[in-house]
Amino acid sequence: MVSSKKYDFLIVGAGLYGAVFAHEAKKRGKTCLVVDKREHIGGNTFCKKIEDINVHAYGAHIFHTNDKKIWDYVNDFVPFNRYTNSPVANHKGSLYNLPFNMNTFYQLWGTKTPAEAKSIIDEQSKKYQKKQPQNLEEQALSLVGEDIYYKLIKGYTEKQWGRKVTELPAFIIKRLPLRFTFDNNYFNDSFQGIPIGGYNELSGGLLDGIDVQLGVNYFKDKVALDAMAHKTVFTGKIDEYYNYEFGKLEYRGLRFDHEILAIENYQGNAVINYTEADIPYTRILEHKHFEFGQQKKTVITKEYPLEASTELEPYYPINDEKNNNRYLQYKNKASKDLVLFGGRLAEYKYYDMHQVIGAALSKTKKLFDN
Ligand code: FAD
Ligand code: UDP
Repeated sequence: MVSSKKYDFLIVGAGLYGAVFAHEAKKRGKTCLVVDKREHIGGNTFCKKIEDINVHAYGAHIFHTNDKKIWDYVNDFVPFNRYTNSPVANHKGSLYNLPFNMNTFYQLWGTKTPAEAKSIIDEQSKKYQKKQPQNLEEQALSLVGEDIYYKLIKGYTEKQWGRKVTELPAFIIKRLPLRFTFDNNYFNDSFQGIPIGGYNELSGGLLDGIDVQLGVNYFKDKVALDAMAHKTVFTGKIDEYYNYEFGKLEYRGLRFDHEILAIENYQGNAVINYTEADIPYTRILEHKHFEFGQQKKTVITKEYPLEASTELEPYYPINDEKNNNRYLQYKNKASKDLVLFGGRLAEYKYYDMHQVIGAALSKTKKLFDN
């Protein structure tokens, strides 16, 4: 019987997971239709051109990886620049380098050698090291001690996540390096940069030659869309896919306030974090610095964290015990489904870009090459 289905795959979501999946499928001779409810491709990596500056429309996105294959993969679509993320923290008007390194320790305590800095951190952290950390607060205090925790972590974390530090999982803080060298590089990875010309070059390259329909909400036309392809790949929220039957998975949302300023250089750095709880935004981005821009004006963005509701975009999965257990129920159900689920929202995982690309590459390799 000849099938009436036009495509091999319907891919819901034109973010990095969907785009990599579609690209890899096309490479193997498969046909794909990618749909996204937003009016653009790239998901959260989307850049909007304002005043000739690539504005990271959904918050700062810095690509970093230790995996040479993933680095080469993305560089095949667009060359990356040498941007190194070195955010600065503002606490009550004083500035501190991030991540926590010899510059930060000098700014905090005037220490000049690793031995001096270590001795202060040991003194402040030893009483917290007696037991296995059960939450973010215990983890942070046992790693960096009290000064760093109270000035640079607690306020930022509580406003970012809208929860008490004692209710948050310890792993979140392990994303931040602690090092005893004068090195402000936020990441330990070997490869890092920003695509020259912005992230749309990457998502556009991945989706080149693939049918894409924008402004299409899958759930509004699910039956007809599914009928167009042999298989569906879903990269949206897994709880929404199953109509929230095991309850809602919680997300932290964000509001991005973009401003154009008629000055060349507002803050001298791409990212400045505001670590006090009383300041309602977590960070200010100045986008031109991601690409060493020389434009006459500048665009800044304040990121205001808020609780994601069903109407708002979900940004950060809240991987605490309650949500992770709930996710496992969805995952179990999904494992028996014919639909494939992947990406930050469908796997309910705090994935970075390189990880989401890695996940889509593994999935397609397993599917097509075994
Ligand atoms: P998404 O980019 O979320 O794409 C999913 C797509 O599915 C979306 O476009 C959505 O519109 C679409 N969709 C959902 N439901 C439907 C539906 N019903 N119908 C149609 N379409 C639908 N990573 C880094 O490596 N470095 C960083 O510096 C970094 N910074 C970040 C900062 C912020 C504020 C955030 C939120 C994330 C950051 N990330 C960073 C993570 C990065 O954004 C993700 O790893 C990556 O974008 C995930 O890709 P994805 O395809 O899984 O999801
Ligand atoms: N964090 C902090 N102070 C900072 C920056 C980060 O306490 O100045 C903590 C906070 O809990 C945050 C986590 O470290 O959620 C991870 O930070 P990262 O910059 O990796 O977060 P993302 O870029 O994903 O928002």
